[in-house]
Amino acid sequence: MFTKSTIQKFRELPTPFYYYDIPLLKKTLQRVSEEAGKYDYHVHYAVKANANDKILAIIKDFGFGADCVSGNEIAKVMDIGFDPDKTVFAGVGKSDWEINLALDHNIFCFNCESIQEIKVIDELAGEKGKIAPIALRINPNINPATHHYITTGIEENKFGIYQWDLEDILQLLVILKNVKLIGLHFHIGSQIIDLNAFKGLCIRINRIQEWFIDHRIIVDHINVGGGLGISYENPDRHTIPAFAEYFGLFKNLLELRPKQKVHFELGRSMVAQCGSLITRVLYVKNGVKIKFAIVDAGMTELLRPALYQAYHRIENLTSNGKPDQYNVVGPICESSDSFGKYINLPETKRNDLLAIRSVGAYGEIMAFRYNLRDLVKSYLSDEL
Ligand SMILES: *Cc1c(COP(=O)(O)O)cnc(C)c1O
Repeated sequence: MFTKSTIQKFRELPTPFYYYDIPLLKKTLQRVSEEAGKYDYHVHYAVKANANDKILAIIKDFGFGADCVSGNEIAKVMDIGFDPDKTVFAGVGKSDWEINLALDHNIFCFNCESIQEIKVIDELAGEKGKIAPIALRINPNINPATHHYITTGIEENKFGIYQWDLEDILQLLVILKNVKLIGLHFHIGSQIIDLNAFKGLCIRINRIQEWFIDHRIIVDHINVGGGLGISYENPDRHTIPAFAEYFGLFKNLLELRPKQKVHFELGRSMVAQCGSLITRVLYVKNGVKIKFAIVDAGMTELLRPALYQAYHRIENLTSNGKPDQYNVVGPICESSDSFGKYINLPETKRNDLLAIRSVGAYGEIMAFRYNLRDLVKSYLSDEL
């Protein structure tokens, strides 16, 4: 994956840093574009996965829309030049200023998550003399096989409108004059590898659509959210996620009414594999049963392992010594600051460079300054 000359350039840079493989990013985006294009599907990139300006600019140039979950994300994508007509805004807790900002930019749709939120959007839109396009984010009560911190579509979690509230909402929508229902929205979770979960989602959406049709409502837009997973175990063998199968599944299973458009919100699957975190080994020390490779990156640069025991592949870029095993840990004063236990690596020494793979999504964007650490730089492959 990394050429000799790339590794040579890495040696000259201060570590740690994020590295983005731009040809791979473009190849991935091209594939999304082609596969979604076959069925005229609309893809909104989930900005929360990676909001690096240069990455966003490339995604925008491919013509994708944006899926935002905060006012600052909306401001950012407007700044980068995304089309407001392709921008959606989700989130359980939209502040008034965030709603106002989105109204001022005339975004495509607010994905609403509670009765009270719909009332507030109606009120704020009324003050501006506007009609806000809204979709109902319905909690479909689907439990995908993923880490419980990243399931979002089961009734016990905070996301979405519960189905028992729908009758009340329809009655409310008759009264409210400054919101217009244009769609239904779903998002069941993240890092979903077993596509059966999406089958379940399609079947549930079909049933919910029937309920709406019984109530004489046919919306124009069905937004099925995101969540397509990637291979963290084998980023070089499975570089590009199964987009053809994924979109094909919705094509086969979703029962659409004439003129209904289908929308997706993909984050991880579009950007994860193009990013790596490059870190230097500071020290190697012998623990009770295992050696620790202590590196200069920590949970502050990549939170996923500490936050949800996520696995990321780790490679030593500069050693071809005898195979050995290491716990690869960071310098932060937290025991959870570990990137992996019993990791097979060639003999690892001070100053070796390690690559922590598949960090293009939920990596750089989750960086924080605990221990007063500096936020670190990122480099695109075509800048080195
Ligand atoms: C996070 C999120 C997404 C993207 O999820 P991925 O797993 O990164 O594809 C899409 N829609 C909503 C509403 C989200 O919160």
